[in-house]
Amino acid sequence: MIHELPKLPYNLDALKPHISEETLDFHYGKHHQAYVNNLNKLVPGTAFAEADLETLIKKADGGIYNNAAQVWNHTFYFNSFSSDGRRQASGELADAINDSFGSFENMKDEFNKAAATLFGAGWAWLALDKNGKLQIVQESNAGNPIRSGLKPIMTCDVWEHAYYIDYRNKRPDYLKSFWEILDWDIVAGRL
Ligand code: MN
Repeated sequence: MIHELPKLPYNLDALKPHISEETLDFHYGKHHQAYVNNLNKLVPGTAFAEADLETLIKKADGGIYNNAAQVWNHTFYFNSFSSDGRRQASGELADAINDSFGSFENMKDEFNKAAATLFGAGWAWLALDKNGKLQIVQESNAGNPIRSGLKPIMTCDVWEHAYYIDYRNKRPDYLKSFWEILDWDIVAGRL
């Protein structure tokens, strides 16, 4: 199986001023593309040659796991944004957030805390457990909660490459902008 870089659902300048064209050019065009290229070099001739990304996230280790998870994670992340979407959860998703965290604002605070305090490179996730409860999860490096049986609903990339061009070392400033482009209709569609 040849893995491919999915097209972005918006133009490179669509998320300005929150995420610049230059950041997207590097983050999507160089980093995301490199994970796809690496994966295509690693899987031929292995037991995973015909496996899809979710299977690789559940079963693979080492470089195959890392690159497969990074391909999946970045596609999921880039597909969470719009220039004009709903900026707060509504309906069934709002109910699930209230049940699990008390309020949308509490969820946002807890998510920001998880994203800001994650040491080094990684991802903060909002994910659904088997009992239908939403959880906030910190994962280092390429970590993806599918591996531990959770269903990802939303994620924030806190690798420095996600924000260093626009925000330098100021991860909290990037997090503030993250909420300005996150589209909650897209997130709700993942429930
Ligand atoms: Mn990234």
